[in-house]
Amino acid sequence: MIKPITIYGNPVLRKECVNIDETYPSIREVIETMWQTLRNADGCGLAAPQINLPIKLFVVNSRDSYAYMSARERERFFAKDDCGIEETFINAEITACSDEVWTTGEGCLSIPDLYEEVTRPWSITIKYQDKEFNEQVKVYYGYTARIIQHEFEHTEGKLYIDHLSPFRKQLLRNKLTRILKGKINASYPTQKSY
Ligand SMILES: [Zn+2]
Repeated sequence: MIKPITIYGNPVLRKECVNIDETYPSIREVIETMWQTLRNADGCGLAAPQINLPIKLFVVNSRDSYAYMSARERERFFAKDDCGIEETFINAEITACSDEVWTTGEGCLSIPDLYEEVTRPWSITIKYQDKEFNEQVKVYYGYTARIIQHEFEHTEGKLYIDHLSPFRKQLLRNKLTRILKGKINASYPTQKSY
């Protein structure tokens, strides 16, 4: 099932999400819905609050982006031997971040028509449960680690625009107000904030 994506201004995007376990109602269908909604929107990551569920669940696909990149882009965005991932993260916790940071443009399916530079750690260690609820601890790098950080923050009620400077935010004020008013142009179904 494809669900509409919640848009900036919707209170669910500011909620601290809760942990879940295997007994969460229809969890397999929920995960499948997340993947279908992400593919339909042609995105690289989606967190549960973006389909109106305040639970600690997100999906990340950096594999398709890798496939579309040139050799030069792959060198900049991916670690050696990393071809991207397609992974479901449940109850994730970032346990370590590298001191090394990098800056590149970022967008969000919940904030259409906006693309801003964000500085983030190059690599992270993350503890989570996969779609079978098996415990995992993994280190991710580059573009994959960036998407994971972005989606993880969604499950904490944070948005990537929270990383922007007050000056930059001021410059974007009109644009953000337009999005709040539902004046958006998205190629996928959305659920506006009112
Ligand atoms: Zn997002």
